[in-house]
Amino acid sequence: MNYPCNMIRDLLPLYYDGVCSEESQTAVEEHLSECLSCRQLYAKMGEAGPTAQAAYHPDREQQKAVSFQSVRKKLLRRQFLTAAAVLFLLTAAFFSAAAVLKHSSQVISCEGNISVSMTNGSLIGRLQGNRADRFRVKRAELQENGQEKICLFFCLSGTKWDALTTDREVFSEYVLCPADKGADQIDHVFYYTGDDTGLEQMDEKELQEVIRTSVLLWSK
Ligand SMILES: [Zn+2]
Repeated sequence: MNYPCNMIRDLLPLYYDGVCSEESQTAVEEHLSECLSCRQLYAKMGEAGPTAQAAYHPDREQQKAVSFQSVRKKLLRRQFLTAAAVLFLLTAAFFSAAAVLKHSSQVISCEGNISVSMTNGSLIGRLQGNRADRFRVKRAELQENGQEKICLFFCLSGTKWDALTTDREVFSEYVLCPADKGADQIDHVFYYTGDDTGLEQMDEKELQEVIRTSVLLWSK
């Protein structure tokens, strides 16, 4: 570590008297080997000699104490500034990571956390322990064993941030089909886990394929 001249100068009297710690001694020696002005100052102390030094500073003990205090203060200040800088960087890193997670939307996977129920004549989807910021639904009439069935596909997307931070007790509900829009005619409700951007534009043939990769959550 490279110390500034004023810190080394505070240490010099202690170093001269041979009473500083091994660490300080190394720091002073390193500094003196590189800094001409401090070396000259130290040489002057040597010329004055220990007796002359003592005479020059009648209260050596007090001088030492002041010197120690001053060095300690400077070291503490330096440690404090380092800690503050580290804290600032950690905070900045945390907020930029959070911003990335908050802006990355993904399809929420269905692992027992999504359910569908008929409530007061409306079909309601329920998501447990997460929040969705996008909700897509597609209604289609599809053939099943030669019979026409009305199927509803839906898909929820949310941010990674919500997936990580939402409490397991938290839930949100989505009206998949309200009572006045013929919810009672729907035979099956599927949760679609593929790329949801094209779901609403899919034709019946494509949806017939999608059934195989979707999760059947509700049937009449
Ligand atoms: Zn210096």
